[in-house]
Amino acid sequence: MLRLFLPGEYVKSIFHISPKKLKEQGIKGIITDLDNTLVEWDRPNATPQLIEWFKEVKENGMDITIVSNNNEKRVKDFSDPLDIKFIYKARKPMGKAFLKAIKGMNLKKEEVVVIGDQLLTDVLGGNRNGFQTILVVPVASTDGFFTRINRKIERRIMQSLKRKGMIQWEE
Ligand SMILES: [Mg+2]
Repeated sequence: MLRLFLPGEYVKSIFHISPKKLKEQGIKGIITDLDNTLVEWDRPNATPQLIEWFKEVKENGMDITIVSNNNEKRVKDFSDPLDIKFIYKARKPMGKAFLKAIKGMNLKKEEVVVIGDQLLTDVLGGNRNGFQTILVVPVASTDGFFTRINRKIERRIMQSLKRKGMIQWEE
């Protein structure tokens, strides 16, 4: 059970994920969370650095879909100017939105990595639906209301993973 919360990788930020390396690993598509993964949950648009990262993703021939549990306005207003596919109200960790996303990119789940900042939605959802997963440290140290509740549970899971020696990364 605990294993389902274990990310394949844990990195400090999205910018520590190399699109070139993913491509070398056979990855052809990225499913990424939005809030506190790509930008702070209360920042409406992409930063110049993030726009560069998306460019790198595309230059490496990879497709990308933003899959967010947030509402249509938030996700559409962020994604549309970038010309990136998106799914809102995704209800992660439920798998339906992930499956819709890979269908939209015309890829198999083995070819897609799920990136996000939450164990309870992104990592659990990715793992139990058969995707590779990468956990990132949240961009902001604050969260929206529901996420704050999830974080409490998340801290306990993290402690268990550490106690069992399942994770070794530095804080
Ligand atoms: Mg998030």
